[in-house]
Amino acid sequence: MNTMITKKHQYQLINEIQTQGIRIEGLQDLSVRKGGAGPTDHKAVKIFDDTIMVPVFSQEAKYSPFYVTKPSKMGLAVLKREEETIANVRFIGEPKFYKEVTSDGIPFWKIARLHSKDVLATTVLQNCIRYHEKETSCQFCAIGESLKNDLTIAYKKPQQLAEVAKRAVELDGVRQFIMTTGTPASSDRGAKILFESVLAVTKQVTIPIQVQCEPPDDFIWFQKLKEAGASSIGMHLEAVSNRVRQQIMSGKAGVSIEFYFQAFKEAVKVFGKGNVSTYILAGLGDTQQEILEVSNKLIQMGVYPFVVPFVPVTNTPLEHHPAPTKEFMESILDPLAYSLVKAGMTSDTLASGCAKCGACSTLQSFEKKYVV
Ligand code: SF4
Repeated sequence: MNTMITKKHQYQLINEIQTQGIRIEGLQDLSVRKGGAGPTDHKAVKIFDDTIMVPVFSQEAKYSPFYVTKPSKMGLAVLKREEETIANVRFIGEPKFYKEVTSDGIPFWKIARLHSKDVLATTVLQNCIRYHEKETSCQFCAIGESLKNDLTIAYKKPQQLAEVAKRAVELDGVRQFIMTTGTPASSDRGAKILFESVLAVTKQVTIPIQVQCEPPDDFIWFQKLKEAGASSIGMHLEAVSNRVRQQIMSGKAGVSIEFYFQAFKEAVKVFGKGNVSTYILAGLGDTQQEILEVSNKLIQMGVYPFVVPFVPVTNTPLEHHPAPTKEFMESILDPLAYSLVKAGMTSDTLASGCAKCGACSTLQSFEKKYVV
């Protein structure tokens, strides 16, 4: 075992592993999430002191220098790069709640999934107005894949979500619930179905909830969502320049960056500093400078810019798009982590959400570098 890996080297290694993925011998025996929103084709793995989502099915992962031989029944394995042993790792196993079914007969695992080690996540509406038109769909999105493969259902009813949340907390000690949604053809852009979902869940169980949707037309939805029990909201820019937004996600780019910023400002008034966040996919074409400029502007407003490496997902138009290099990610995450620490808005200060979980990026690990 390599005992000489310093803390600084650990952040760099985690960043490298997350951009390049891991080759796994006996992959078919592991439970892996394929398709859907969020981290697809990934596996949650504990390495050093962090749990991160690592691509295992992507094109990059097939040629990654990092590999493990078949993990044990407990998910334990030794991570190597070429002949060098890096660390003992543990793949997070299937949660107990997956074995149960709702009162109307739907397996729990089709309603919500375990992300990382302790996050329950669902896509309430597994359809999106933008998905079926090739010209307008977000080219990185795989929201329809899990539905096509019968791994989920098109709409998760509030009662079903409440049942799953209750048991996931009881059986697996899940610590937060993240609800995202495809965008319906209504001006609230998904806020209404999230509101109904949160209301039902909070009647059954007390758990921090993050909702994620496009900015609704009427910002009154922020107050309604907060009153229903959501503790944070994510409204995801994905790309920060108009150039890349038009190129990669022309439908969603119809909602302007200016409108996102108006929504961020109003949402921070309701949810508070840091509990409004946005996902930014590094590697789609925005430059380092563009991402850092927008991120710093967001931080000043109290919005957490959750920058994650773009991972090309199979069966999407960007399947063969290259993942960002480790150098590109480090050139963003390192200064960004410093700005977040300086602003007192680190991942651990947030109530809930992807930025709190942090498993899809090494931003959280870089933050630790600057926390004294
Ligand atoms: S960061 Fe968000 S999408 Fe990624 S594993 Fe955590 S909850 Fe899931």
